[in-house]
Amino acid sequence: MLLKGKTAVITGASRGIGRGIAEVFAQNGANVAFTYSSSESKALELEKELSSYGVKVKSYKSDAASFEACELLASEVTSDFETVDVLINNAGITRDNLLMRMSEEDFDDVIRVNLKSVFNMTKAFQRGFLKQRSGSIINVSSIVGVKGNAGQANYAASKAGIIGFTKSIALELGSRNIRSNAIAPGFIETEMTAQLDDAVVQQWRDGIPLKRGGTVTDVANACLFFASDLSTYVTGQVLLVDGGMLT
Ligand code: NAD
Repeated sequence: MLLKGKTAVITGASRGIGRGIAEVFAQNGANVAFTYSSSESKALELEKELSSYGVKVKSYKSDAASFEACELLASEVTSDFETVDVLINNAGITRDNLLMRMSEEDFDDVIRVNLKSVFNMTKAFQRGFLKQRSGSIINVSSIVGVKGNAGQANYAASKAGIIGFTKSIALELGSRNIRSNAIAPGFIETEMTAQLDDAVVQQWRDGIPLKRGGTVTDVANACLFFASDLSTYVTGQVLLVDGGMLT
């Protein structure tokens, strides 16, 4: 029960890594406010599941890429939950292509959803953190943001941007006891990676020192560390959850 009494906001939690984080957080006693972009039925199903842990849960249909929507979300969540202790910026998309074939729209969409969303949400929720003089911001980057990846220039740029943002915010808000850290997952088996060819997936697994893809729980447990009081002296860090891939 590492998060008992705390409230966490998680973007894009109706499936994948976001859902895994919501589950681990609720199991650890956190109240959870989460956003989803389209599937209301999945969101309601998750609300029900998380509530069974005896915590307060509410889902919000909200576009993390919209500045206005994030402002509105922050005021709704703050009035529903009173305080927010943890913000997890998880929402993300891919629009992979070689630069030669990458459209301007595919570049802009990925930057808006993956990077601009982190600005939108952090700006909207920082007011509450500043007032209560505490908060933990956790941004979901990727190892691709550290090392780059052919065919993912837009995605890698967005994830590298998240790391720069995370470190800058850690410097800006540290004196107010607000921490900002990033998680950089490697190959995590979710709906996002299920779109990949089986041979490609096996190639990824073979190249990982721990010889398996990560699970959403592997990522969620790293977020749990950053969200909890176990990490009160840790800020501005990027934790690789990659089975040793970048080692
Ligand atoms: P996913 O596609 O299963 O989940 C992404 C979630 O983001 C979905 O719930 C989607 O509805 C939501 N979303 C998309 N656009 C949104 C928007 N504009 N506003 C609000 N929500 C929106 O993917 P995932 O694998 O669970 O990825 C979660 C995060 O982890 C992403 O940021 C992704 O880049 C990152 N990541 C994933 C992997 C991996 O191997 N799966 C590796 C590194 C990083």
